[in-house]
Amino acid sequence: MNEQVIRKFVIVKGIVQGVGFRPFVYNLAQHYDVQGEVNNTQQGVEIDVQGSLRGVTNLINQIKSNPPTLAQIEEIIINQLQSTNYQHFKIKDSTDDNEQLTFVTPDAALCSQCQEELLDGDDRRYRYPFINCTNCGPRFSIIESIPYDRESTTMSDFSMCEDCLSEYQDPTSRRFHAQPNACPDCGPQLLFLCKKPNGLALGSRTQLFT
Ligand SMILES: [Zn+2]
Ligand SMILES: [Zn+2]
Repeated sequence: MNEQVIRKFVIVKGIVQGVGFRPFVYNLAQHYDVQGEVNNTQQGVEIDVQGSLRGVTNLINQIKSNPPTLAQIEEIIINQLQSTNYQHFKIKDSTDDNEQLTFVTPDAALCSQCQEELLDGDDRRYRYPFINCTNCGPRFSIIESIPYDRESTTMSDFSMCEDCLSEYQDPTSRRFHAQPNACPDCGPQLLFLCKKPNGLALGSRTQLFT
């Protein structure tokens, strides 16, 4: 029995970039077995989704009722499209061909999961001051232009190490597409400068972390 296939084009406006919205939609698409793509544009987040009526409807309902923690949806525009031949669901690289501006996401305080890692002596980000994830960390402070992608932030100067990159590429990771993702091996460092009687001394990481 063939279930009816529908295709919708959804534009989500508001604070929707830098809050894990694309990975959130990607995971929903996997869960509801629908195809298409999600994209950051200067309008916000655009979702082209095709699949069973039930799958597409559930996905849109989840976006409305259960968006990522830091997202603030202002408006959702939904249009019906002719079905096409999508085989998978993918996250598209951001485009910047629209003229309307989206909201810039504010920085967010440390989330409880990152705090746990920060204080866990066995964690590779133990006491790493720039720890962050999709639910917390810098946004406004690092954004140089939108759409929000790592290349358009001050993090573009830092290449992710293997471990960070695998988190960034893993849809099940809390750091999937987390643009400021970093660790002590690959991210920014903090130096402690202290004024000693004989001048200015450069602190070491050991000093900083004690
Ligand atoms: Zn976090
Ligand atoms: Zn790293």
